[in-house]
Amino acid sequence: MGRARGQDDRRPAPETRAQVREVWRDVLRRDPHQTLFHGDVLGVLRSVGPVLAEHPEYADVLGRLCEPERQIVFRVPWTDDAGRTRVNRGFRVQFNSALGPYKGGLRFAPSVDLDVIKFLGFEQIFKNALTGQDIGGGKGGADFDPKQASPTEVMRFCQSFAVELARRVGAAVDVPAGDMGVGPREIGWILGQYQRVVGLHEPGAFTGKPAVLGGSALRPEATGFGVVYFLQRILGEQGRDLDGARVVVSGSGNVALHAMDKVIAAGATVVGCSDSRGSVSEPDGVDVDALREVKGQGGSVADYAEKRSGAQTSDGSAFTLECEVALPCATQNEIRPDEARALVDNGCWAVVEGANGPVTPAAREILREAGVGFGPGKAANAGGVAVSALEMQQAAGRERWSAQDVDERLAAIMVDVHDRARDAGERYCGDPTDYENGANAAAFLRVAEAVHSLGVV
Ligand code: NDP
Repeated sequence: MGRARGQDDRRPAPETRAQVREVWRDVLRRDPHQTLFHGDVLGVLRSVGPVLAEHPEYADVLGRLCEPERQIVFRVPWTDDAGRTRVNRGFRVQFNSALGPYKGGLRFAPSVDLDVIKFLGFEQIFKNALTGQDIGGGKGGADFDPKQASPTEVMRFCQSFAVELARRVGAAVDVPAGDMGVGPREIGWILGQYQRVVGLHEPGAFTGKPAVLGGSALRPEATGFGVVYFLQRILGEQGRDLDGARVVVSGSGNVALHAMDKVIAAGATVVGCSDSRGSVSEPDGVDVDALREVKGQGGSVADYAEKRSGAQTSDGSAFTLECEVALPCATQNEIRPDEARALVDNGCWAVVEGANGPVTPAAREILREAGVGFGPGKAANAGGVAVSALEMQQAAGRERWSAQDVDERLAAIMVDVHDRARDAGERYCGDPTDYENGANAAAFLRVAEAVHSLGVV
């Protein structure tokens, strides 16, 4: 990446700073209530100053990056098992397609609104760029709660959702995947209805499919495994490794369970975990297979703990437990200043985001000041979308790659993601451990060059 830039080279010219301020004012003016989205935009605008000092021509790109190419909000009517008509709101935000088809997951949760989807979609542009693959950024979902619905209700909901989505997505246009509340089963149902509507066999229009429909080997594991590959690079730079380390993982869903598998395989002990109903501490180590079984039957971490003599439940955060590594893998805003201070006091080495936005800006500042390694989600959890892009490649070539092949490619991509963020952190911030600003800077450079090269479109 060349030599590190000095303090003076890192400040953009006054006219460039004025352009950035104008973009920020427009973001606030257009959607004054979208606070999650604002927080993410502000983080990126702050990070890219040193890049703009070197490339003032990219200031012109910022306004286009912050405004989605398209935002689709739609009604999703469906019939519940009692025969009543229900209505939810569906979303697909097609944020930026400069690098490739829009790519990003679908989230079904009652908390979903346009702010959540725009925040996740904006984040996705940079995450996808960091992987080095040719994919644009998008996100979607609905304010539908699959936990309150029977399997037949979830299927009817997915089918209704897919009818509207069908006019908007496609293998060369926009390729959704799963996210919270949407796994291979739901993607299979959405794909099934999609193919009826478009009249084509087009499995490449979605990723995260069941294996029998062309889902990639290792897609379910990819995000959690990738988080741990990223973590291992951070620890490597610190001269440490996972052997003997105590790890706390929040959540006990897809990302969390696979991250637990991987840290345990590397010699660590998972001493705490959580779900939406509470948290558990187990100093001798969580038995991930037992936890997976309880969760698979619809149970909670408290139900798991009841069966284990050394486990204790709590209503509070798992991140107040003593640990060397914290992996927030549940949802946004899980680590606030109180949890960050507890992690620092307990001598934590690294916090790596498996979820999107689980560490608040104020908490990140506390971790940074204390020198705790921090892996931002847009870099650390990019493994899921990276393997989704490998699934697109397999669909396009009508190929199936083995789990080992995909795992090797995933590990190599995560090393590249880490190194891009580290090198840009060094070059633009003078700090190779500043993965947050480094990831934003490296990703912005790639997307900005693509947007700039396309002209004003
Ligand atoms: P899942 O739905 O499989 O799991 C989410 C887990 O988080 C569940 O255990 C859930 O609890 C728990 N949870 C939800 N809300 C809370 C809360 N308020 N407090 C504590 N725990 C909570 O989702 P995923 O594992 O797929 O996704 C987790 C995160 O990772 C999300 O932020 C997602 O955007 C991000 N991500 C996911 C990717 C993927 O490939 N799946 C890719 C990149 C990022 P319960 O079990 O009780 O429902």
